[in-house]
Amino acid sequence: MATIGSVTRQIAALEISAKQNGATRPQPTGTSHLKKGSQSNQNIQKLLSKFAQPNPLPSGIQKASSTNTIASKAVRPPSPTKPANPPPAPTPQQTTQKKVDIGRYDGGFEIDNETRGEKVHGEAAEHLALDSSVARYRPTREWHLTDFDIGRPLGKGKFGRVYMVRTKAEPHYILALKCLYKSEIVASRVEKQIRREIEIQQNLRHPNVLRLYGYFHDEKRIFLMLEFAGKGELYRQLTKHGCFTEKRSSRYIDQMADALIYLHGKHVIHRDIKPENLLLGINGELKIGDFGWSVHAPGNRRTTLCGTLDYLPPEMVEGKEHSEKVDYWALGVLTYEFICGAPPFEDLRGHNGECRIFSDIAVPLTIELQRRNFLQLLQYDPEKRLPLTDVRKHPWIVKYRSKTSTATARAS
Ligand code: AMP
Repeated sequence: MATIGSVTRQIAALEISAKQNGATRPQPTGTSHLKKGSQSNQNIQKLLSKFAQPNPLPSGIQKASSTNTIASKAVRPPSPTKPANPPPAPTPQQTTQKKVDIGRYDGGFEIDNETRGEKVHGEAAEHLALDSSVARYRPTREWHLTDFDIGRPLGKGKFGRVYMVRTKAEPHYILALKCLYKSEIVASRVEKQIRREIEIQQNLRHPNVLRLYGYFHDEKRIFLMLEFAGKGELYRQLTKHGCFTEKRSSRYIDQMADALIYLHGKHVIHRDIKPENLLLGINGELKIGDFGWSVHAPGNRRTTLCGTLDYLPPEMVEGKEHSEKVDYWALGVLTYEFICGAPPFEDLRGHNGECRIFSDIAVPLTIELQRRNFLQLLQYDPEKRLPLTDVRKHPWIVKYRSKTSTATARAS
């Protein structure tokens, strides 16, 4: 069965192909968080109708494929560091990806490129010469903007736009293509951070961590080939509903804890867990979607008067050394916000330095005892915070875990 859900899961989409022009079959990954069967069919139908809606095309704007400015580069031979397993043969289901309506392109990449960004030089240019085909680990094939059919806009970030795209080559993978303007990155002085975060994310494989399949660049821009998160931003859902049901909250926290155990096992501390950095896959599964390069808060996102104090643990606020336990704290805040509709320390934003609040958390009466125990994640002392493995065993989590979600899913 081929669905958008399967597309977004068919990972290796693009990490794959050190083979020149090689369209290869995606690798299966741990997907036990994802619903299967008729649910997926329903979701695809919903998604298809959503994306079939016309998106007005401004006059004079042509498809990117005919106007993009990326120069063709020589095809590189497969890297010796590429994983030894040969890609499996394509299956018939993959051809149906082409039928997925990716919506109408509004020419945004070209519009921006006319007016936005400058060429960068020197050391900064070297930091931002990002091309996954030459990545030290897991090199991909070489990509250009001309390799994609560009569809509807998905959103705008601080450094550029994000579009739903499909690879022209079979099996026509559906992705989110995110553009970042190099000169704006340099102006924000985050070029090293962006490079590091891209390299980190490209090596992560977990069903609740948004995949970065590959990346490429031209003189002015970097393009990130991201897993398409069909249901968009979690923050939007939270804003829409005010708060989430116990069941929904519990399942999200389960997925978050699973993803964090995976990340910490890889010595990756996220440090910026909050609803704004979470996306939802086509089956509603949570995806940690931001690894630090999007250090911005566009649109209706939370203002950051005191940084992200809402989610900042005491040890970071106090400028102390911190460990992966900062993510435990943020998970506690997330749990609280999902259930109560606001983070526990929101009212205190702007009260500079009042860190004693952290040792005196007022748990609302509406939160039952069982969950109070769960909120042991919000301990001032990092060492006293509830371990993530215990979070996943907690009755409040186990109670709502679906049968299909073994939640031990690990991507390969
Ligand atoms: P960002 O620059 O990451 O903040 O992205 C800007 C907007 O694009 C986000 O707020 C999302 O609505 C959308 N977006 C970003 N990445 C994806 C993705 N992988 N799948 C779907 N939508 C995305």
